[in-house]
Amino acid sequence: MTDHCDGDFNPIGSSLKIPAIKFTKLFINGEFVDSVSGKMFDTFDPRTGEVIAKLSLGDAEDVDLAVKAARHAFDHGPWPRMSGSERGMIMMKFADLIQENAKEIVALDAVIGGKLFTLCKVIDITAESRTLRYYAGAADKIHGTILKLSKGLQGYTLKEPIGVVGSIIPWNFPTAMFFMKTGPALAAGCTIILKPAEQTPLSALYYAHLAKMAGVPDGVLNVVNGYGCTTGAAISSHMDIDKVTFTGSIEVGRRIMMAAAASNLKPLSLELGGKSPLLIFDDADIDQAADVAFSGMFFNKGEICVASSRVFVQEGIYEKLEKKLVEKAKATVVGDPFDPKVHQGPQTNKMQFEKILSYIEKGKTKGATLLVGGNRVGQKGYYIEPTIFADVKFKTLEEAIKRANSTTYGLAAGIITKNLNVANSVSRSIRAGIIWINCYTVFDVDCPFGGYKISGFGRDFGLEALDQYLQIKSVVTPVLNSPWY
Ligand code: NAD
Repeated sequence: MTDHCDGDFNPIGSSLKIPAIKFTKLFINGEFVDSVSGKMFDTFDPRTGEVIAKLSLGDAEDVDLAVKAARHAFDHGPWPRMSGSERGMIMMKFADLIQENAKEIVALDAVIGGKLFTLCKVIDITAESRTLRYYAGAADKIHGTILKLSKGLQGYTLKEPIGVVGSIIPWNFPTAMFFMKTGPALAAGCTIILKPAEQTPLSALYYAHLAKMAGVPDGVLNVVNGYGCTTGAAISSHMDIDKVTFTGSIEVGRRIMMAAAASNLKPLSLELGGKSPLLIFDDADIDQAADVAFSGMFFNKGEICVASSRVFVQEGIYEKLEKKLVEKAKATVVGDPFDPKVHQGPQTNKMQFEKILSYIEKGKTKGATLLVGGNRVGQKGYYIEPTIFADVKFKTLEEAIKRANSTTYGLAAGIITKNLNVANSVSRSIRAGIIWINCYTVFDVDCPFGGYKISGFGRDFGLEALDQYLQIKSVVTPVLNSPWY
């Protein structure tokens, strides 16, 4: 454990504040340890682009140590062997500790990810301790089924933990992703090696510390920070990891699939990117449509896989809606995510900032109509104006469905209409894993989430996610001399 700063919040240079960063090492086998190589990497404040902490940089050797610890904890430790209710009680304690330390943890995600402090507190932490509690409650309800076999046979299925799980997560929701992956895996009785994104490595270490305090045995939850091409690749190709769950880009998803195929054929669940459509029909309430369309695109500064990046508006309300969206973009306050008056913080990192600006330039040079925005804000940090290019109108329901589906992605979609028949017909026709009607970006732990087509496979959330961490074993015996079958 390293104390970089004392106290709660410390001013750096100007009026900007940074939280105390207590944990900077790798967490392996219940201990904070230096990496084998002793190497460190920098983590940045997106408000200034300046380094705010140095962390231990994991590599293949550290992954190997974490896998050994997780394998031992799985093969010989108490976690998979204790009853579901005992696991559930420890997970409940873990959730309580998160709530107790919420302010400190939220500050870590806000400073490193440019996320709004007040919003993180309300949404991320509350929802994620709920995620943990949901799976804690499910831990003692994992059971197989009785099979109706042919005459003379008796059979049932057992659901067993899949084993050692590798989790590789992205930078846009460090807390949500952490619990989306570890909640069901812990409930199932698995042991875990989690690699946070190198851009947002802080809160996962804090959670590992709280897990230990709650009573999660050593080796069950390991956090190895590091780069994708080394640490991530070592996880996906490891011969002793039984499953990998990944959220991130399609390109990396493909690499992980190839690594799994070339190593031990470990099963995968892949939550990948999207180009999600939002269909707004003529009968929509214009204010509601503007609210939903705006937050669908700009929630978390657009850094969300389900962002409604393709908005299709029926021609009757197109102009009115366009006007409302421009007003909203102009009224958006961009600035320090710790300031409660601010609506949009900086993009998480330099790469993302530059990528967005390059897409904006591309849009301009290709002749798309720029309605509003298009520039960086200020000269320091990774701030960008909310930017809207005019999109295309549609006339008919059939045309809207065709356009929505004319993509290789299939992550999410939204519909805004008062017409129940339209809502029903569109929601069944769009090939995507989640459809929001008269709302958008609404997540709940009981609602399975995942992609169609190249947006991936497998589901996070819901009881469906629990199945991703379980093996089904069939047990069959002959029944002799039974009076009936
Ligand atoms: P990314 O794919 O570059 O990185 C995600 C994680 O994979 C990081 O931890 C990274 O270090 C690791 N990684 C990189 N190369 C690797 C390799 N060769 N082997 C193993 N691991 C490797 O994605 P990103 O830029 O961090 O996140 C943005 C992407 O994530 C977007 O495409 C977004 O749509 C997607 N996303 C999807 C969901 C979803 O649920 N479907 C949610 C959030 C983000």
